[in-house]
Amino acid sequence: MVDIKTVGVIGAGQMGSGIAHVCALGGYDVRLHDVSRERIDAGIALIGKNLARQVSRNIIDQAAADAALARISAAENVEAIGQTDLAIEAATENEEVKKAIFRSLQPHLKPDTLLASNTSSISITRLASTTDRPERFIGLHFMNPVPLMKLVEIIRGIATDVPTYETAVAFAKSLGKITSNAEDFPAFIVNRVLVPMINEAIYTLYEGVGTVEAIDTAMKLGANHPMGPLELGDFIGLDTVLSIMNVLYEGLADSKYRPCPLLVKYVEAGWLGKKTGRGFYDYRGEVPVPTR
Ligand code: NAD
Repeated sequence: MVDIKTVGVIGAGQMGSGIAHVCALGGYDVRLHDVSRERIDAGIALIGKNLARQVSRNIIDQAAADAALARISAAENVEAIGQTDLAIEAATENEEVKKAIFRSLQPHLKPDTLLASNTSSISITRLASTTDRPERFIGLHFMNPVPLMKLVEIIRGIATDVPTYETAVAFAKSLGKITSNAEDFPAFIVNRVLVPMINEAIYTLYEGVGTVEAIDTAMKLGANHPMGPLELGDFIGLDTVLSIMNVLYEGLADSKYRPCPLLVKYVEAGWLGKKTGRGFYDYRGEVPVPTR
């Protein structure tokens, strides 16, 4: 197994900042990278806010929060990420973006750096094949919000070797997470089941079967889900939901996975959910208001 001390995180959005947060709390030194200094700083600010919330709820103490924040540094270029023991890619759910990141990282990698992707749906085998080390490449699929959600789905590519798998499982456990193994097929387990349900909820809205409120209330109270599917889509990010549906549709060549045209319209409008202030709900006021 590889001894992990430093972790590089590429992408400082919802997931990258969450991953950096739990790694720093777990005692790892973290380098956080994104396309601009502003994005990295916004990620670090979000981590500070979320750590403070954990302190106010007595989940961690102030000293642990301060120590965690001190372990995170901004990496303005990928060179610094290449020198870490484990580099976790958590950038936008787009295969070309992810492949370009691994290509740019390649010349700067230490020989033994492990590579991981937090992708929700894209083939680990395909991403691994763009690197010089497919045997040391693995899917580490954290759930949102990372500090709260217990699961890390572990996905081995066709070439992933046993020490990489064992290191990944031990690493996830060291963060207090529970792992579940999924084979490398489109969207793995969690999103293969979850995202078509969200897409179906959007079809239900599109066809006028129910309003946003009716659909979410029905699924919360009727199926005992903690969040309605439309609210959950907003929370994940509708761009991510659409990307996952496209991966399922293309990867499994089955029309049952076609993305709902209403989902496409929301994404084209830039109404991506909570992260942009508007999706199936408008989050810009005091309380979320349905947008249809
Ligand atoms: P996000 O939109 O919040 O963040 C993506 C970040 O990636 C942005 O800050 C963007 O600037 C950055 N980025 C884009 N191109 C980059 C590049 N070339 N180099 C460095 N950074 C780059 O998205 P997110 O929700 O954090 O999703 C990130 C990944 O995590 C995706 O692969 C997604 O599928 C996966 N994921 C998301 C969820 C979820 O619920 N949102 C859950 C599990 C996994």
